Formats: sequence, C-alpha cells, structure tokens
Amino acid sequence: MVKRLRPTRLEDALEFRAEYKALPFAGGTDLMVRHRGYTGTLPKIQSPVLFLDALDELKTLEIVDGTLRIGAGVSMAELLAFPGTPELLRRAVQLIAAPALRNRASLGGNICNASPAADSLPPLYVHQAKVVAVSREGERSLPIAEFLTGPGQTALKEYEILLRIELPLLPEKGRLYYRKVGTRKANALSKLSSAGYAEIDKGKVLDFRFALGAVAPTVIRLSEAESLVQGASLKEIDTRAVSEAAETRIQPIDDQRSNATYRRKIALNSLMEFIEQLKTIVPEDL
Ligand SMILES: Cc1cc2nc3c(=O)[nH]c(=O)nc-3n(C[C@H](O)[C@H](O)[C@H](O)COP(=O)(O)OP(=O)(O)OC[C@H]3O[C@@H](n4cnc5c(N)ncnc54)[C@H](O)[C@@H]3O)c2cc1C
Repeated sequence: MVKRLRPTRLEDALEFRAEYKALPFAGGTDLMVRHRGYTGTLPKIQSPVLFLDALDELKTLEIVDGTLRIGAGVSMAELLAFPGTPELLRRAVQLIAAPALRNRASLGGNICNASPAADSLPPLYVHQAKVVAVSREGERSLPIAEFLTGPGQTALKEYEILLRIELPLLPEKGRLYYRKVGTRKANALSKLSSAGYAEIDKGKVLDFRFALGAVAPTVIRLSEAESLVQGASLKEIDTRAVSEAAETRIQPIDDQRSNATYRRKIALNSLMEFIEQLKTIVPEDL
C-alpha cells in the first residue's frame, strides 16, 4: 500500500519531504504515466507520495515589481485564465495536450519532469525565468537554465520542493515568436518547440533571444546566434552566419517522435522564420 501524505501546511510538506523522501505529486499527468502498470492495476509507486494540491503557497499567481510569480502548483488552465500571463507563455501553454489535461497539469510539474520537449520551457528560457526551491532550511533561487541539468534531471535536492517560478515580464513592444511542431494540433508531444523575443528600434535589433526545445539534452538558448543578431540592423543580419552559429548548439536525437535530421532542419527553419518576420516589419510599426 502506498503511503499518502496530503499536508495543508507548507512546513508539514517540507517535513514529510525531508523525513520520508516523499515523492511530490502535483497534477500526476507525468507521474501516473511513468508509474503505470498493467491495465486495471494501480500505479506502482514505491516511495510515500506527497500530494501538493492543498498547499496555498503553491497556488500564488501575482505580479510583483514587473515579475510574474507563479506558484509551482498552478495549473495550465489557471495560467491561461490569468490576465497577467505573458503572451509568449500563453501561446505555449494553450498548445499543451488538451483542456482536460491542462486542468490537472501544473507548470511546476512540467519543469520538474525535466523533459527537453516540455512546452512551457522555451518561453521560460526566453524570459530568463528563475525558479525558487524550498526546504526546511529556507528558499533558494536559481535560473531555469541551471535548474534543468539533463533529460529528467534537475538541481532539486531530495529534501526540497519547487515553490514558485519567477518570470520577469518583457517590454510589450517586443516581437514574439512561438512554434510547436507535433504530429497533431492537440494531444501531441513536441518534435520541436521554439520561442523567440526581439526588441527593435529604428531598424536595429536591441535585444534578441531564441530558445529551442527537443533538440538537445535540455532546452537551449542559441546564445552564439543571438549575439550575431543583437546589435545588428535588420537589413544587415547575416542569416548564413546566424544559421551556422545556431547549428553548433543543436544536438538532436532520433526517438519515437521524430529523427535528428528533421529536428535539425525545423529548428533552423524556425529561427530563420522569426528573423524573416522581423525583417518584414514596416518602419511605422517599429
Ligand atoms: C496525454 C498527455 C499529453 C501531454 N501533452 C503534453 C504537451 O503537449 N506538452 C508538454 O509539455 N507536456 C505534455 N504532457 C506531459 C505533462 O502533462 C506535463 O509535463 C505536465 O505539466 C506535468 O505536470 P503535473 O502537475 O501533472 O506533474 P506531475 O506528474 O505531478 O509531476 C511531474 C514530476 O514533477 C515532480 N514535481 C511536480 N511538482 C513538483 C514540485 N512542486 N516540487 C518538486 N517536484 C515536483 C514530480 O515528483 C514528478 O517527478 C502530456 C502528458 C499526457 C499524459
């Protein structure tokens, strides 16, 4: 029989996590698949299960000093319903699975599951989000790119839980890009997901960010390619050099959803599509 723990106080949750090495359970949409058994049997979870749904601290959704604070237990549906959710994250979340699953699935679960194909991650990388982990010793904050260390691996300690995600909001005049490539429109895990942000002033690129999911062991920012675009005038962007710089960072694999050749191609196509979109901005739109 699996031991079930459903604390209503964060301090109790942290006690259980530390004492029993209890497994955090948010929406369960990854966990129930990971631990499934034969049809008709209960999921096979060995450790005590720590249900997080009764913890108010994980349900925060507020903007403080230009930063959106999202409790790790906030569901995808709640994120979509919140008017302050940034457009880039909104575009990604509304393509995750389908409505029923979005009612259960949490942002914290999407992050902690640490799939390189998790759809919320490219926007979080573009926003340069931070995650806040909590334990009995207190809170610690780290950049999302340091939290995710490999496929299915994070920097979370076995006595911590993810408390919230902090998302610095981007200037509204910035240009956005999001593309998910999957087998279908809904209920499809990504072959590739990509997110971009650019700030343009008088034809010059002031800020350029581009993140890719499902082409490396973790989601990546194309930092070398970004630095070639940033500071350039739109007309003078050397797309060949940008593409070559991007390619050095892309290390896709073959798996059941796609293959490396296709992923490499669509990753570069996405980057070029965003740059082409920027180049078509007419001066009065700047
Ligand atoms: C049919 C189907 C379709 C899907 N489609 C998509 C899709 O399109 N895009 C996509 O990105 N994903 C998809 N997923 C995957 C999944 O739904 C998401 O990753 C979801 O966000 C996981 O959230 P959850 O709350 O259900 O996590 P859970 O299953 O509860 O947990 C996932 C992992 O995170 C850990 N965890 C959760 N919360 C915390 C916390 N606060 N602190 C520490 N650890 C924590 C758990 O211990 C577990 O290891 C799909 C899954 C299914 C079954």
